[in-house]
Amino acid sequence: MAKSTRRAFLTVSAAAAAAPLVAGEPAKAGTAPGRDLQGILREIDPRRIEAIVRKLVSFGTRHTLSSQTDPVRGIGAARDWIFAEMQRYAAASGGRMTVELQSFVQPVSSRIPAPTTITNVIATLRGSVTPERIYVVTGHYDSRVTDVMDAVKDAPGADDDASGVAVVMELARVLATREPEATIVFAAVAAEEQGLYGSDHMAQVYKDRGADIQAMFSNDIVGTGNAHDGTPINPRQVRLFVEGVPTAETAAEATVRKSVGGENDGPSRQLGRFVDDVASNRQTGMDVRVIWRRDRYLRGSDHISFLLRGYPAARFTEPRENFAHEHQDIRVENGVQYGDLIEFCDFAYIARVARVNAAALWSLAQAPGTPRGVVIDTTQLTNETTLRWQLGAEPDLAGYEVVWRETTAPDWQHSRAVGKVDTVTIDLSKDNVFFGVRAVDTDGHRSPVAAPRPSS
Ligand SMILES: [Zn+2]
Repeated sequence: MAKSTRRAFLTVSAAAAAAPLVAGEPAKAGTAPGRDLQGILREIDPRRIEAIVRKLVSFGTRHTLSSQTDPVRGIGAARDWIFAEMQRYAAASGGRMTVELQSFVQPVSSRIPAPTTITNVIATLRGSVTPERIYVVTGHYDSRVTDVMDAVKDAPGADDDASGVAVVMELARVLATREPEATIVFAAVAAEEQGLYGSDHMAQVYKDRGADIQAMFSNDIVGTGNAHDGTPINPRQVRLFVEGVPTAETAAEATVRKSVGGENDGPSRQLGRFVDDVASNRQTGMDVRVIWRRDRYLRGSDHISFLLRGYPAARFTEPRENFAHEHQDIRVENGVQYGDLIEFCDFAYIARVARVNAAALWSLAQAPGTPRGVVIDTTQLTNETTLRWQLGAEPDLAGYEVVWRETTAPDWQHSRAVGKVDTVTIDLSKDNVFFGVRAVDTDGHRSPVAAPRPSS
């Protein structure tokens, strides 16, 4: 409620300030799920999510340095179970989903005392129209206690991060029977707690292969809207952390940004706006609280591995954490229960987070890709704006929309359909507003917005 009120106020005040703008439609429709997405959202099952979290907790510890060969306790048993489950889901995909164990040996480093095999479990659902375009969702299946090097004590990691792995696995199960236009990758990664090693390797493999990853989401600590600390329960909110200035920004890009702005228009920021638009609604039952920073203080997650390689990425996490329930030995101290125990998880909440992810991933995969090569013509001083981009190759591409907002506004305010063209001139000064371009298909699916770079 507070958010929509704030947004409405800003839209009105900005429109008043900018009175004689050229005609445009409101940029944000609060895109409602289509029938196919509604079916996906309905199929996401809190009971299955509960069963996954219980199973992951049952391995005792999933510490990266725990046993890789014990059949019942340790990270190896967890790895093998996740792999078998994902293969079961893939069996229903008509050959579209493949599952792999991506292993590598991590050399000695600050939290890895001896060379250690680290394994990501990756299920890839190949796109039916543009398979080279990829969207990635992850949770990490390793866990920890107070001492990050302790591989022996019970480390249930129910919230951190069996909850995120349950999101990823339930999405894989439900989407395995669908045919997304673009490729969706569902990954349970390892060694997050030791230094993001699993996702770092995975992102580098994609980078080396020149993979076109257009969005990545880490689900990390998405177990409950109840902090169990006496504060109000917030069961219908999930936070989405999105950076502004790209982690991988080059010195040349920084120079341009310093001269004309754009610190609020990085690709991850656009992704945050997109997710809020398609996933905050009655069907997901959730409000996405977008937070404009890369992550919380003192913390990180697997999205950073992808940001480092220049891929747009963001991190979902619950609205308010209880730090006595994360990274802690299980114990009672002064009447306070410590430890990441399953009793603090809310499976209906995790299911709603899975629905938010499903809405984001499905909307991304069904829409055209984010426009490429968007530039704003800056060859001469004019009081109008010429934008150019590369025409996309999607067979159902209907055309493009130019969006704009006051430079002080947080989100896109106006849009104008400009047809299936690769250049357009708008009778507004590029000096006074921020512009972007998005693609639209024949079903009305919209891509994330791409912000232009100056042409000179
Ligand atoms: Zn975590």
